[in-house]
Amino acid sequence: MKRNVGFIYAHPDDETFGCSFLIRQIADEGGNPILLTATPGNAGKTGRLGTMTPEELAAKRRIELQQAADILGISEITHLEMGDGKLKEVDQNILAAHIADFLNRHQIEVVVTFPEDGVSGHPDHIVIHHAVNKVVLGGQAPSVQKLYYNEVRSRGDAIDKPGVLSISLGQNWKIKRDALAAHESQILSIERVFGDLLQAGPSSFADECFLLVWERGNVNPLKQERTIFDDLV
Ligand SMILES: [Zn+2]
Repeated sequence: MKRNVGFIYAHPDDETFGCSFLIRQIADEGGNPILLTATPGNAGKTGRLGTMTPEELAAKRRIELQQAADILGISEITHLEMGDGKLKEVDQNILAAHIADFLNRHQIEVVVTFPEDGVSGHPDHIVIHHAVNKVVLGGQAPSVQKLYYNEVRSRGDAIDKPGVLSISLGQNWKIKRDALAAHESQILSIERVFGDLLQAGPSSFADECFLLVWERGNVNPLKQERTIFDDLV
């Protein structure tokens, strides 16, 4: 049986920034990574692509996301098409209902989303964090057994915190570089975090860290795990 893992994010590229190694590993090990992205990401900048209308940028980012998904092994993407930068204004019950529907439709067993600070503090990220918590911890998605937040560490930081799973792709770091490069319109923010992708090497990419915050009703189990599939029933 293929294990379905749901990644729930706000914008095209959030999944690549924080979860490329994990997603590729899940796909390579026979799991099924599935993505929900809440907005088209079309209120932002266009990198070096020049002026674009919001409609043009939405279309471009949808293509970029599909390219990154193909590189990472994401099997399916749900696009909610909610307002970019405006998730706080959305009816939170409707957002939660969409997330619950996504999780139930795909019978998702493991969920990965933003931590409480949204990684970058982006308001849309924080809205997604709370919506996912509400659905999973509120029992609206009974197939879900585990919830993880993707944590951000500086390159080279030792990971010794219990409950944090650290994923490194070693020689396959090029997968993350290529998936980042697919998000061409976001190249300026990518360069701010990862540097010039043309110069990138293995040391440009920190291990990805995932904090297990909930497992079948147990909050903060603080387990040392080998993979996100450990102890699924
Ligand atoms: Zn984002």
